[in-house]
Amino acid sequence: MQPLHCRIKNMEKRFDSETVIQEFESLTKDAKRVQIETLKKILTENGEAEYLKKWNLDGRFDPQSYSSCVPVVTHQDLDPYIQKIADGVSYPVLTGKPITTITLSSGTTQGKPKFVPYNDELTETTMQIYRTSFAFRNRAFPIENGKALSLIFGSKQFTTKGGLLAGTATTNVYRSPQFKKTMQAMQTPSCSPDEVIFGSDFHQSLYCHLLCGLIFHEEIQIISSTFAHSIVHSFRTFELVWEELCSDIRTGVLSARITDPSVRTAMSKVLTANPDLADKIYKKCQELTNWNGLIPEMFPNCKYIYGIMTGSMEPYLKKLRHYAGKVRLLSADYGSSEGWIGANVNPNLPPEMTTYAVLPNIGYFEFLPLIEIDLVGQPKLVGLTDVQIGEEYEVVVTNFAGLYRYRLGDVVKVIGFHNSTPELQFVCRRNLMLTINIDKNTEKDLQLAVEAAAKILTAEKLEVVDFTSHVDLASDPGHYVIFWEVSGEASDAVLKECCNCLDKSFVDAGYVSSRKVKAIGPLELRVLRRGTFQKILDHYVGLGSALNQFKTPRCVGPANQTVLQILCNNVVKSYISSSFG
Ligand code: AMP
Repeated sequence: MQPLHCRIKNMEKRFDSETVIQEFESLTKDAKRVQIETLKKILTENGEAEYLKKWNLDGRFDPQSYSSCVPVVTHQDLDPYIQKIADGVSYPVLTGKPITTITLSSGTTQGKPKFVPYNDELTETTMQIYRTSFAFRNRAFPIENGKALSLIFGSKQFTTKGGLLAGTATTNVYRSPQFKKTMQAMQTPSCSPDEVIFGSDFHQSLYCHLLCGLIFHEEIQIISSTFAHSIVHSFRTFELVWEELCSDIRTGVLSARITDPSVRTAMSKVLTANPDLADKIYKKCQELTNWNGLIPEMFPNCKYIYGIMTGSMEPYLKKLRHYAGKVRLLSADYGSSEGWIGANVNPNLPPEMTTYAVLPNIGYFEFLPLIEIDLVGQPKLVGLTDVQIGEEYEVVVTNFAGLYRYRLGDVVKVIGFHNSTPELQFVCRRNLMLTINIDKNTEKDLQLAVEAAAKILTAEKLEVVDFTSHVDLASDPGHYVIFWEVSGEASDAVLKECCNCLDKSFVDAGYVSSRKVKAIGPLELRVLRRGTFQKILDHYVGLGSALNQFKTPRCVGPANQTVLQILCNNVVKSYISSSFG
């Protein structure tokens, strides 16, 4: 039996799901009051900041005074203030306590990363979100003591002109001591050493994550990443490197592709020659048909696969299910570099249906009804507890790290309430829209069109690896261009049919009528060389993003010239739709 002090320590460390759930229930039962208190706390802590002083709140911290004094803003409005912080000014700019870290958001939409202030409070709220969803998940699908194959990657970090550390939000979180403690308490420590997570090259890190996963394959309880894309990307990589992984395990010698000395040293502590294991894995891989059910074959005790699966991640679900076989897919929570918003507290729902319950104490949330968005003047927002079921809104955030009434750019739909806090479904990014004339097609419309057309490829045993779009206004009339990377060779006839199907699948009345009167030209499908999306990923990682935070830009505008160039330079075939005559 363990000595008493060890048992007490273990109890302290053990995760108590029921306490976390009770805490969440009491917060959400009183969401309105909690929101008022949270706003008061944020404004009190930061009252001395230059930005807040400018709006003359004069000690009035109630929601009415706040919304009448402080304007609703976008990142562009706050950018000069964030720049001042990054440049190292010595007075409080956006927050009372100085900001010491900057987050680099992925900047998928704009084509370049944005700076966002980061502080310890954001780490705390991240842990609260992790704990909350884990508590509900663990009640539904308990795990035992084990490890997680966490496909996570630290991005490059650099210092700003003023000496502040800058990196992606996930990197800031992974580097915090609280992260490790929380993962330990949740019985899901990563199976890979830190040196792998923070390796200098993500291709090498990914290889080592897969290797560690195989070494600890029987202990793996969960496979996770921030977004589903990186899980799919990792297993696509597995398909290419499995023989090399087996050889490393057989000989105990790490592949020469790993050149980062710190990663090599760390891996030498986990990799020992194990020919039996290598044979077992080799045999399993050979027996799989088209890698169907790869995950349960390799990781027999994996309880579920966890990562954000909604929004722009939905297109990867088909492939993920293919790898996952019978293993359950659970969507992770809803948040951004600007802070977390809601937790998935209904883990029984299939990933496409996932809702996110807003945590009322992690920020002050307002909602901009979609119908208000295009009106001139200050729009009319509603509070967290006043949103209407079935309505769509853009999320507006006030957080503990210096963002006040900040438009996040995401559209969400209210599906219901958990006690008095809304449960949101992610709809799309607001500005990702294909539009030429009176047509309006969102990321979701594009996804549905691609899904419909990709069914034609399925009959040929092919799939769309990834896709994006562009509005080509150089031609007259302008037309939609859809870029596809396909898993193999498809015939011209099949791709022509896919192109026609894409054109017909945009059912938006504005698009259909514009196509009929030729105010929009025929849709063009451009097929890309294999590996093009890998080049786009490499480009974003080069800008400071991390694989686990990567989101394929679904609509590439003229501001995103580099990505557009990568796409255009890699077109191997193109097809023009003959739908609409
Ligand atoms: P980042 O730029 O890396 O901070 O990404 C944040 C963005 O990712 C959010 O603004 C959303 O558009 C998207 N996102 C985050 N969580 C989810 C989710 N659960 N479902 C869909 N999209 C999400």
